[in-house]
Amino acid sequence: MKVLSVSSEVFPLIKTGGLADVAGALPIALKRFGVETKTLMPGYPAVMKVIRDPVVRLRFDDLLGEPATVLEVHHEGLDILVLDAPGYYDRPGGPYLDQTGKDYPDNWRRFAALSLAGAEIAAGLMPGWRPDIVHTHDWQAAMTSVYMRYYPTPEVPSVLTVHNIAFQGQFGAEILPGLRLPPHAYSTESIEYYNNIGFLKGGLKTAHAVTTVSPSYAQEILEAEFGMGLEGVIASRIDSLHGIVNGIDADIWNPATDPVVHTHYTATSLKNRAENRASIADFFGLHHDSAPILCIISRLTWQKGMDLIAASADEIVEMGAKLAILGSGDAALEGSLLAAAARHPGRIGVSIGYNEPMSHLMQAGCDAIVIPSRFEPCGLTQLYGLRYGCIPIVARTGGLNDTVIDANHAALAAKVATGIQFSPVTKSGLLHAIRRALHLYTDQKVWTQLQKQGMKSDVSWEKSAERYAALYSSLAPKGK
Ligand code: ADP
Repeated sequence: MKVLSVSSEVFPLIKTGGLADVAGALPIALKRFGVETKTLMPGYPAVMKVIRDPVVRLRFDDLLGEPATVLEVHHEGLDILVLDAPGYYDRPGGPYLDQTGKDYPDNWRRFAALSLAGAEIAAGLMPGWRPDIVHTHDWQAAMTSVYMRYYPTPEVPSVLTVHNIAFQGQFGAEILPGLRLPPHAYSTESIEYYNNIGFLKGGLKTAHAVTTVSPSYAQEILEAEFGMGLEGVIASRIDSLHGIVNGIDADIWNPATDPVVHTHYTATSLKNRAENRASIADFFGLHHDSAPILCIISRLTWQKGMDLIAASADEIVEMGAKLAILGSGDAALEGSLLAAAARHPGRIGVSIGYNEPMSHLMQAGCDAIVIPSRFEPCGLTQLYGLRYGCIPIVARTGGLNDTVIDANHAALAAKVATGIQFSPVTKSGLLHAIRRALHLYTDQKVWTQLQKQGMKSDVSWEKSAERYAALYSSLAPKGK
């Protein structure tokens, strides 16, 4: 089975969040199910700088207004089709935002172009290779199935995965001519969305199947509270809606071999974590004492509940815990967290920025990771926490609900608990959960049991990749 995956970010080439981890890990996990994936992504400067021996596979003289070339490269086990279109992607800012943090004004054209290139490859324009299935990710790639519907192409089934329905790619109707779609594409059954144009909405209507990254989130987005205005559109696709929880790359995230982890360990040598813990204390300027270190590795946003952390910081310290916070995001939240650190030297440390190696070391050394998300399609940091014996303390929502087993009385007695869940997602809910965690921490036997059970959890891609492979097979034309 041949799959064309279309994604705006792919680890290790470029990453702003969990989407990149998934787009980078799933193709590798799918290999053992006989699925061969090529991944189409934009040629951002960071990508163009590291790729080696590119082979030109396709040229567009005019891809929605810019010339573009598709380059095929092999990179760390991935087969990548880089859309080299300097007019769209050769910019000094990030993938979506300029250097001042503003959306690029032509994001609609940049990602419609990516999607159109995907549709052209699906149609067989690239010599010698045509996919059996197209798998698109989020609004940036969602227009692929829209173009596939309106451009005269052979029928190729498509799957759209929604990693976060909060990001929808909505634009004014005036962009319609620039998309080069037929006028009838502007309909409620396609891209039209309340007199505007919705890229994700168009993908949800035109893809053959829709998946989200956890079963709980698939249920939640049917409701107004989580559907962000698209709940009706999701409901219209309920027969083709699937929730498949993300896995993690268990080779990259392995505490026994992780190259950035100072002292390696397994479930039977958890004591080794102490040295990593000491490095974390040094980095974040925390006291070297027996108080547990709770960490946060996150975008600093309202979705992630970071305002609740800022509002609870004094009480968390009072309860006897220390906080190590790594993240970046809203300037106001960064400010409140830095202020909390200034109030509690040695007890709260904050590092603003994106630091991939530090995110690994924190999982390998901190005692628990706190994830108070208001909504969480899947979440990856709790999975890394499980794998590294860093106990997840999570809001009971979306993928957090599906992957962490709360240490309630029955689960503790049955020795199946792996973390702590809480709801409602409020300051008092969060503080109650942390109090429970600190109480469990006082009994090191119980805490170690939680760590060991978490490390036994199956957080690999194995089962989920099998489910994607089964979904592809159910959609692919017979005989494939
Ligand atoms: P989302 O994609 O919504 O941001 P996820 O939990 O699905 O949330 O994925 C976040 C990913 O980004 C994880 O791999 C996490 O380790 C990583 N991450 C988040 N913030 C940082 C940071 N400041 N430095 C390093 N890695 C980070």
